[in-house]
Amino acid sequence: MNILVLNCGSSSLKFQIIDTDLEKIEKGTDRELAKGLIERIGSEALITYKVEGKPPLKLTSPLRDHKAALNHIIKWLTSGEAQIPGIETLEDIHAIGHRTVHGGEEFKRSVRIDNEVIAKMEDNIELAPLHNPANLKGIYAAREVFGPSVPQVGVFDTAFHSTMPETAYLYPIPYQYYRRYKIRKYGFHGTSHRYIGYRYRMLTGKSREETNIITLHLGNGASACAIKNGKSIDTSMGFTPLEGLMMGTRCGDIDATIIDFLAHKEGASLDEIFNMLNKRSGLLGISGLTNDMRDLEVEIDEHKDRRAQLAIDMFCGKITKYIGAYMAAMNGADAICFSAGIGENAPEIRAKVCETLGFLGIQIDKKANNKMIRGKEGLISTPDSKIQVFVIPTNEELVLARDTCRVVQNVPMP
Ligand code: AMP
Repeated sequence: MNILVLNCGSSSLKFQIIDTDLEKIEKGTDRELAKGLIERIGSEALITYKVEGKPPLKLTSPLRDHKAALNHIIKWLTSGEAQIPGIETLEDIHAIGHRTVHGGEEFKRSVRIDNEVIAKMEDNIELAPLHNPANLKGIYAAREVFGPSVPQVGVFDTAFHSTMPETAYLYPIPYQYYRRYKIRKYGFHGTSHRYIGYRYRMLTGKSREETNIITLHLGNGASACAIKNGKSIDTSMGFTPLEGLMMGTRCGDIDATIIDFLAHKEGASLDEIFNMLNKRSGLLGISGLTNDMRDLEVEIDEHKDRRAQLAIDMFCGKITKYIGAYMAAMNGADAICFSAGIGENAPEIRAKVCETLGFLGIQIDKKANNKMIRGKEGLISTPDSKIQVFVIPTNEELVLARDTCRVVQNVPMP
């Protein structure tokens, strides 16, 4: 089954084509056939296409909207240009899986997209004004281009966290606001945390019920998740992705009073303040230089930049704090798993976080840690470390493709 996986932003579209079916899922033999990214939709779009085993193709084209972008991809796939074995016509795409950010309280698992699902997603726009409209654009476009006979599936970023208990997801504000407006912690990066948990089980042979781990998705956006008996019982992102760890440009946890105080002092609107908290804070805000961990490390190596160092120290400190809190909430965990851009590629950050946790009996194997970069997966703790530490490269697209296949084939979600 060839699944087209779509991740639509407001002016971007990321896609992958993955060949999978129930047997391939079981054996882990599903394969990525092609992928691509279209940016700046709405003007002269920047397009990158990549077929397995071939160099990437980069081009530009004026693309008015997501429908035009999707048509561009299809033309590339079916005109003989891409030359992907098994994909010659539109009919060779059997289903479409959409990354859908906010499922609210309605969607606890991946679902086939129909008019009712679309209506519920439209209702949830209020909860995710930046993400859901973009996801919906992709869904409307795919319906138009592929027609109603090609099944479409929504895989929600919040779904994995729907198992959190009330004690974790409620905020200690008057209960009526939860009842009236559904103000609560939803959590994000769920597809990634779920995949990391799955890979942990594959690496250790443990069952879902035996999976007691803390997963760290550390990319430009960052979140931690406490997985107990295979289920998310707490996560650091909240009502929106702004809460929790310090991130590339987001502040993470702060005292809510700062917002009002700053608005008065700076004569700024709430929009301006939230723009600052989302886009000019975190590693960028503290260093005053960049949100990219690689550049911060260069600044420290070459210029001993104090604020670059401070940004990294704070970033690691917040992660350590969350690990400590989750260790307590879970009554201990068997493993910590690092993932995403920073988690997969920055051994110094992993070492720094784990050194502070030495009191828990965590010991890192320096050699293994330094080697575990650029997509490598494996254990980086020593055999006598009391808690295992893994690097697990995330693969949200694979989860999307597999869920799409399961939904289309009507088999229960794991
Ligand atoms: P993601 O959001 O998962 O794509 O992660 C992107 C972020 O990962 C970048 O902004 C960098 O901060 C970080 N990153 C990527 N490669 C490296 C690396 N080799 N060393 C340190 N950080 C990295």
